[in-house]
Amino acid sequence: MPTNIPTARIRNGNEGEVNAAGDYVLYWMIANRRTRWNYSLDRAIGWAQHLKKPLVVLEALRCDYQWNSDRFHAFVIAGMADNEARFAKSPITYYPYLEGRAGEGSGLLATLAKPACVVVSDDFPSFFLPAMLRAAARQIPVKFELVDSNGLWPMRLAEKEFARAFDFRRFLQKALPPWLSEFPQADPMKGLKLPDATLPDLKQWPRAKPQAAELSEFPIDHKVTVAAEQGGEAAARAQLKLFLDKRLPIYGEQRNQPEVQAASELSAYLHFGHLSVHEVFAEVVERENWTPDKLSSKVTGSSSGWWGLSATAESFIDELITWRELGYNMCARRSDYDRYESLPDWAQATLAEHADDPREHVYTLDEFEFSRTHDPLWNAAQAQLVKEGRIHNYLRMLWGKKILEWSPSPQEALKTMVHLNNKYAIDGRNPNSYSGIFWVLGRYDRPWGPERPIYGKIRYMTSENTARKVSVKNYIAKYSAQQAVASRQLF
Ligand SMILES: Cc1cc2nc3c(=O)[nH]c(=O)nc-3n(C[C@H](O)[C@H](O)[C@H](O)COP(=O)(O)OP(=O)(O)OC[C@H]3O[C@@H](n4cnc5c(N)ncnc54)[C@H](O)[C@@H]3O)c2cc1C
Repeated sequence: MPTNIPTARIRNGNEGEVNAAGDYVLYWMIANRRTRWNYSLDRAIGWAQHLKKPLVVLEALRCDYQWNSDRFHAFVIAGMADNEARFAKSPITYYPYLEGRAGEGSGLLATLAKPACVVVSDDFPSFFLPAMLRAAARQIPVKFELVDSNGLWPMRLAEKEFARAFDFRRFLQKALPPWLSEFPQADPMKGLKLPDATLPDLKQWPRAKPQAAELSEFPIDHKVTVAAEQGGEAAARAQLKLFLDKRLPIYGEQRNQPEVQAASELSAYLHFGHLSVHEVFAEVVERENWTPDKLSSKVTGSSSGWWGLSATAESFIDELITWRELGYNMCARRSDYDRYESLPDWAQATLAEHADDPREHVYTLDEFEFSRTHDPLWNAAQAQLVKEGRIHNYLRMLWGKKILEWSPSPQEALKTMVHLNNKYAIDGRNPNSYSGIFWVLGRYDRPWGPERPIYGKIRYMTSENTARKVSVKNYIAKYSAQQAVASRQLF
């Protein structure tokens, strides 16, 4: 058994045994879609070296998942093209597969797994991936390992879920330090030597040519168009560099300003696994000349002062680690993470008390989707989502709060938020899609006074207050113009 990655990051997907007489080790890449800083790839390489066998990587894209569209296909396929180029220079056999019609991909994994010694895959806690992994486990006749490369903190290691970011942060301040010197390999293929693989007959599932893929040929939603943000490891790394060079110095002060580009815009790359949080962390602390001895020994749960980094870097790292990994903790521990009933009791109680409050505005899903509310700032945020596949974080909070206020019930508001976020946002369908959306309804928050209509004790936001706190005039002008174009494309 290789010992090259921490055991806390590995769980068994089935009860199978290693078949040392098999033909190769198989890594089924489903979430960490990258060739660097990837514990699953490290683990698969570890097995191949240990058993002295070739390594085969299968990266597939199915076409029948909810909210499939040109936008997400293009992003993933760009990543496959990068992976293909990188693996071509290594002794690893990479097999990209793009499913052309629903169901056509069935049997591919089982066929590749049959002669394998062991199968490794990515442990990812939300959307259809957990169910897909459970179904796959039944088709894999050998040992099936699921590897967690999602965060600095192994997501299944905490034995409880956390109700507030403060509690999770305080927990991390005690528990995280040993994990700050445990990293996946920055470039595990450098100098790697492995024997060549011979694959079984895969004619039924022809090898994809990601560079030449035609989106129009897939049975997916073509109205959700390709966003400007390009997918893949190379684009992710370029965005990280841009962030570190230009935006990190102003992040702490300006992150909330929609008209200033201070945020990293890395969430889509993190979601599709084109970029690792370990790499982002390593780059930030290198720029800061940081070493673990700078950590404060005082555990306070405060978002500043613990890391011993500059104030701006601390505020970024708090989002990247505390807030981001809080969502992974929740989804890994609770299979009902996307159900209304998973909200804290106080939030459900206050929303129920105000369920029958009169609503001045009530919009249908279509009216929300096509930016047809009375509020120009909200309409602009929705237009940005439709056109670019993202909303600036501060306005994303307002976007959700107004959907709560303008929906017939909080349950309906939840459905609308999940649908619009996951249909259009490139970073949607992620554990943090659910943290953000459920935050709107009270998760990770506390009761706020005074009690208000519809919201009850749930935190309240208004477009007027937002416009007073941050500049939005140019933002509204920019996205109102795009709104007309986006609406035309959607009809
Ligand atoms: C209604 C609503 C829906 C949301 N939906 C999503 C979603 O679908 N996918 C998603 O990744 N995030 C979601 N968020 C959280 C947050 O808005 C985004 O992570 C952030 O705006 C991404 O932009 P960035 O990469 O520039 O973030 P930065 O500010 O540069 O932060 C760096 C990284 O930290 C993480 N992060 C930042 N803010 C948060 C946060 N509040 N909660 C959790 N992680 C955070 C992200 O991984 C982000 O890439 C949602 C928030 C709300 C209020």
